[in-house]
Amino acid sequence: MQTIKRYFSTLLLSLCCLAAFPYTLVIDAGHGGKDPGAQSKTGKEKNINLAVALAFGKLVEQNCKDVKVVYTRKTDVFVELNERAAIANRAKADLFISIHTNSTAAKVGPRGTETYTLGMHRAADNLAVAKRENSVITLENDYEEKYEGFDPNSSESYIIFELMQDKNMESSVKLAGLVQKQFRSTAGRVDKGVHQAGFLVLRATSMPSILIELGYINNPSEAAYLTSTAGVNALAKSIYNAFVAYKKGKS
Ligand SMILES: [Zn+2]
Repeated sequence: MQTIKRYFSTLLLSLCCLAAFPYTLVIDAGHGGKDPGAQSKTGKEKNINLAVALAFGKLVEQNCKDVKVVYTRKTDVFVELNERAAIANRAKADLFISIHTNSTAAKVGPRGTETYTLGMHRAADNLAVAKRENSVITLENDYEEKYEGFDPNSSESYIIFELMQDKNMESSVKLAGLVQKQFRSTAGRVDKGVHQAGFLVLRATSMPSILIELGYINNPSEAAYLTSTAGVNALAKSIYNAFVAYKKGKS
């Protein structure tokens, strides 16, 4: 009898836990550790990404009791690109949001936020962003084998994204649009739109997923904003508002 009782109380407990967290959100702060990402004299991409990721996650944890937040990193550590996606897949996540900061080869970059979903780039600028973000795999051991010969710096490698079918495309584009809208209205940022490009980290996830570029670190006024507490909080609040609107639309 005791055993049966214990069995049922364990069962009930696990059911309660399931009910408490019916939704899993993975927040991925791009780069970290030995990989600083884009840099300027004002700061490093890895730190901006992490600050916004943690502030966004905190808002979700405080206000959405039914959402379990999983972070790919919460500190300044290096996490391989495949592992970031694997964390989301293992958690059977409902949504994956990767947070990055942009840069260009120009001395002074433009201003504005962009949000990407997985797909084939239609413009050279979008390919350049994917190349820069994917090139972090060259810091991993045996990356040629792990990524099946994918060369992040060769344009030919990106042809594979052309024929790819992504069943989560519609949801991902919906969320990307909401994020850009919030960046405009909540944070007053320049809206550089929703785009598609071949990001390895998005390709390896099996749920709706987006990659956000918060702004240009090589634009001095944006860099100052991105490294300020007010900037981090406004960007985090924007992503949070978009997430809430997206989730509401799904339920
Ligand atoms: Zn990045």
